[in-house]
Amino acid sequence: MKIAVLTAPGTFEIADEPPPTCGPDEILVRVAACGVCASELDTWQGRGAADFPRHPGHEVSGTVLEAGPEVSTLTPGDAVAVWTVERGFAEFVAAKADRCRPARDLPAEEALLEPVACAVNAVELADVRLGDDVVIIGAGFMGNLVQQLVALRGARHVIVADTRADALKRARRLGATAVVDSLAESLPRAVRGLTDGNGADVTFEVTGAQGPLELVGDTTRMSGKIVLVGFHQGAPRKLPLGHWNWMAFQIVNAHFRELPTIMRGMTAGMRLLTSRRLSLDGLVTHRFALADINEAFRTAVEKPEGFVKATVTVSAADEAAPGQVEAR
Ligand SMILES: [Zn+2]
Repeated sequence: MKIAVLTAPGTFEIADEPPPTCGPDEILVRVAACGVCASELDTWQGRGAADFPRHPGHEVSGTVLEAGPEVSTLTPGDAVAVWTVERGFAEFVAAKADRCRPARDLPAEEALLEPVACAVNAVELADVRLGDDVVIIGAGFMGNLVQQLVALRGARHVIVADTRADALKRARRLGATAVVDSLAESLPRAVRGLTDGNGADVTFEVTGAQGPLELVGDTTRMSGKIVLVGFHQGAPRKLPLGHWNWMAFQIVNAHFRELPTIMRGMTAGMRLLTSRRLSLDGLVTHRFALADINEAFRTAVEKPEGFVKATVTVSAADEAAPGQVEAR
């Protein structure tokens, strides 16, 4: 089978490998699509981990080809959303069945289990309450998910800030009650204006960048919550901790590593997606064939106008059983 291997920074090569075998508690999946995750871009750009080759790809959707004898939740032919830790940019992947969820009739490119679980868990941990005023800084893919989930929680104001006009337009379409171009106007002033001078009950930081960390303390009310959803890779960040301390903020670290929480988020996220309470419709803006995976990553780094999320799709021409693929 074909699999994308990151052999050096900026360089994926398509290798031919035997398809994985399916363990007793695993399923073998024919991959339809695998999302390009912002968390993978640092590695692709040569920052952080230095060991190569690497096999990224953890946001997989596809069809069950084979289920191990201990698997009772999924059967061959089922559409499935898969969380693997790696090797997702391939024609086939094996995964623990308990880390997969039925995708039912969702479009394959929208059955993105891991990012949806992360967003669900962030909003759950933040415990947004009925009537809360909420600020979301960052209207990229994760910000768009968080925004929709915050609205489901019954917030009064959902105020979305970004610096890109197309992102703000999309946030508006997804139901933001106000959008703020934080380059063109003062976000703290805009928030105070909308919240009777109080500031937000909850501010989500969904960029993983330094800039918004200097802003969140000025958009949040005393004793309100600052929720860190962004993945802060690279150089250590600077926090205005004295101010945060004085304002008695609750600081919520919404970066999840432990399995039971991630799995619960996957279940809740797929319930919301398959019932269309949460929608990724229109958010997968760029699609690339496996052979063009370098272009997919380059595009995710460069974020051209209108970019939200890229997926690598395995083309219909590759749809054969593993044995046939191996024999080619
Ligand atoms: Zn991801």
